[in-house]
Amino acid sequence: MKKTTFPILALLASVGIASLTGCSKEQEAAVPTGSAAKQDAKVEEAYPSQTGTTLAGKFGGESIAYQQINGENVFEGDILLTQEQVRSERAQTESAGRNTGKWPSAVVYYTIDANLPNQARVTDAIAHWQANTPVRFVRRTTQSSYVTFQVGSGCSSNIGMIGGRQYINLASGCSTGNTIHEIGHAVGLFHEQTRNDRDTFVNILTQNIQSGYANNFSKYSASGYTGTDFGALDFGSIMMYGSFSFSSNGQPTITKKDGSTFNIQRNGLSVGDKSGIDIMY
Ligand SMILES: [Zn+2]
Repeated sequence: MKKTTFPILALLASVGIASLTGCSKEQEAAVPTGSAAKQDAKVEEAYPSQTGTTLAGKFGGESIAYQQINGENVFEGDILLTQEQVRSERAQTESAGRNTGKWPSAVVYYTIDANLPNQARVTDAIAHWQANTPVRFVRRTTQSSYVTFQVGSGCSSNIGMIGGRQYINLASGCSTGNTIHEIGHAVGLFHEQTRNDRDTFVNILTQNIQSGYANNFSKYSASGYTGTDFGALDFGSIMMYGSFSFSSNGQPTITKKDGSTFNIQRNGLSVGDKSGIDIMY
């Protein structure tokens, strides 16, 4: 029952389920290795180099820390939470759950702002989602809930369908891969490293994290909800940070349990990502 009354957490659970297939060969092949490490894809940030004010809030009934920057509530670097989402204990109630989460019938309505440069990033990312998942993207006509892709100071998105118009913000440096990642947030995915059980799979090296960015590595604690943390953490997920994301000193911020590093993957949805979306939608 909790899953149906609180879909946002159910979505996180689905990513976990996806990870059951996380060790397949196809997936490993999709992850760049070795010398590619120096050319890590850029990790997504709503407001690069701005840390704003750290505030405490509630999301999904759990205490979270988020940054307030330029009037936006920024969670985990590139997730924009609405005022209502961070406010409250209300997040536990049915009505809040219904307002957030999956897109009905797996259809995401969207528009692309005419001022957005390089719109092929968006159309290519949408084509990738449509080729690999059951989610469909339809140009908005009169629908009230939809995503507008627009110019932003960084790469960012709301989490799940929030109701009404919502945005995916793309600075010029946001790639097609970053756009695929932001669409992942818009359909309801969190970052893979925020799983409740992540400490089983990774070490977080807080001493190497840039000042003001520690909250990006906070666990999304979904304890008390059944269905979370299935399978293994998916290092190849397009929703996973890389070992050197937000490093202050060139040393890793996240390693595997054995201390080894891994690369950020922003080429496309992993096998695990696809399975998770199949289950969700
Ligand atoms: Zn993100």
